[in-house]
Amino acid sequence: MRPMYRKLVCTWVLALAIGNGLPAMAKPVTPPPPFPAWLESLKAEATAKGVGKATLEQALGGVKPIPRVIELDRRQPEFTLTLGGYFKKAISAKRIATGKEMLKKHAPLLRRVFERYRVQPRFLVAFWGLESNYGQYTGVFPVVGALVTLSHDRRRAAFFRQQLLAVLQLIDKGHFPSDVRGSWAGAMGNHQFIPSTYRDFAVDFDGDGKCDLWNSLPDIFASAANYLSKSGWQKDRTWGREVRLSPSFDIGLSGLETQKSLAEWNTLGVQQVNGEPLPNVAIDDASVLLPAGYRGPAFLIYNNYRTTMVWNRSHLYALAVGHLSDRLVGKGKLRSDLGDVSPLSRHDIFDLQRRLNALGFNAGNPDGRTGPMTWKAIKEYQRKHSLPADGFPNSQLIKHVRKQS
Ligand code: CA
Repeated sequence: MRPMYRKLVCTWVLALAIGNGLPAMAKPVTPPPPFPAWLESLKAEATAKGVGKATLEQALGGVKPIPRVIELDRRQPEFTLTLGGYFKKAISAKRIATGKEMLKKHAPLLRRVFERYRVQPRFLVAFWGLESNYGQYTGVFPVVGALVTLSHDRRRAAFFRQQLLAVLQLIDKGHFPSDVRGSWAGAMGNHQFIPSTYRDFAVDFDGDGKCDLWNSLPDIFASAANYLSKSGWQKDRTWGREVRLSPSFDIGLSGLETQKSLAEWNTLGVQQVNGEPLPNVAIDDASVLLPAGYRGPAFLIYNNYRTTMVWNRSHLYALAVGHLSDRLVGKGKLRSDLGDVSPLSRHDIFDLQRRLNALGFNAGNPDGRTGPMTWKAIKEYQRKHSLPADGFPNSQLIKHVRKQS
């Protein structure tokens, strides 16, 4: 699964593109302005931001929109992955084994990065493994061409124009050449930074004057650590842990919005997986998550999990980073079954949202994705019907809602 342009929607499930799109759900897009005039206005704005003429000529000379990029941008995923399905792909035995090797091989460098930026090595390696399979895949699209395409196109023009300007500034400063490659949406390097993240957080840790997130492991690890550290990472804390819930635990207390101390969660029936009480640690912002519903595994997450969601606003991604980081140091093998691995259809989620709205539970504008409003609406629905209020959409819930409407 490619970590895509994210940071916009908070999701339990990651989109999985299969087959044809869902035309009923695609938004109409205004045709783009004439390209030559648009390119001139872009050059003028880049010049005003200090990008040199030679850079603009080299980077934008002969550039044209790339139809394949628009095709990928318009792709509407038909299914969304479940926790079980995502973990199966994201955390293979091979990925764990390679990560362990990398952790050992680069230990001295990772130690130096930790001393400076205070992010534990196992987390840096886990992000690295999920973003580019430890540098194996950093994308093949010409970044300038891809971002020209997406900012000329109207759908998300403003956002991508800022990303394109950031890339031009980075090229102008000599961090990488103008034919730089990345994802179809312009994410770059071993940690797939979007250009504005690259510009704002990349660091030159090997001191050669460039922030090279393709070839310099010191720059790669230090940049990721700098980004996490500035986003609020806590060096002496882990991300969270799998927990066991006592039968009396109120499922409705699950979700990021409910934050309590470990002592309070202890009283409410949250235990370590071995049945022991939670450790006596002064953490006061822990939340219980049920990413596969109340029948699946339960997790207690801490601040570093929230920081991971600054990097990528997907719960499945954040759980995968945390879990992989545990596995790299030989712990954290999940005790619970991850539940159903079959993906949920976006058509079903779309239909569920529509029906919840009609029944008076505000699930927001139906879009086939489960975000905070949908979870909240599901929870309210479940409470009203005396069902365990985990906010989780599955086929049983959809069936239940359909009977009511
Ligand atoms: Ca460097």
